[in-house]
Amino acid sequence: MTIEMNEHLQIRTYKKSGHIEVICGSMFSGKTEELIRRIRRAEIAKQRIKVFKPKIDNRYSEYEIVSHDESSFPSEIVNSASEIPEKCFDVEVIGIDEAQFFDSDLVEICQMLADSGKRVIVAGLDQDFRAKPFEPIPQLLAIAEYVTKFHAVCVICGAPANRTQRVSKQDERVIVGGKDIYEARCRLHHTIPE
Ligand code: ADP
Ligand code: MG
Repeated sequence: MTIEMNEHLQIRTYKKSGHIEVICGSMFSGKTEELIRRIRRAEIAKQRIKVFKPKIDNRYSEYEIVSHDESSFPSEIVNSASEIPEKCFDVEVIGIDEAQFFDSDLVEICQMLADSGKRVIVAGLDQDFRAKPFEPIPQLLAIAEYVTKFHAVCVICGAPANRTQRVSKQDERVIVGGKDIYEARCRLHHTIPE
């Protein structure tokens, strides 16, 4: 923390340090719910907030992040993470949902925003449907000050689920969908397609 001393007034002022928080886990684990909870508390504290999501995620709304239990918070769609800093000059708390759909430049952008004193809260899938680390979340996990890993409930056995089963036959890594295409599964009941 930087201390600046005004010698005449003998007043110390502290520059505010920013930081990065990552909320990760499988689909249905409550990442968006938790992001909304943290953002609502910042709003109660009258902090200046902005929430972003990538263009690809227009499943439920263009103008809000929406959780699977239908809680929501206003958000802005961006095509790329590089659009975020110019929209955040006077913002204190930045929320980013579905971070796995951004390019690797998200990592540098989050770093820069936190360096400039902002609280950056990033939510995203840590694994894809093959249980492979889903970039750029692993890189964000490494540089974040705070990391929270959430679990859903395995739809087969009820155990904590940290994997996402794709129940459709499609093979591409990114297919945006909900319960029609994905299920929460534990390690034992998750199967990796060949
Ligand atoms: P995420 O953003 O991680 O996909 P959400 O915050 O959107 O998750 O949704 C979490 C909510 O999803 C839960 O509170 C619950 O209502 C619902 N849900 C549906 N299926 C499951 C499941 N298998 N395990 C846990 N929660 C589930
Ligand atoms: Mg979500």
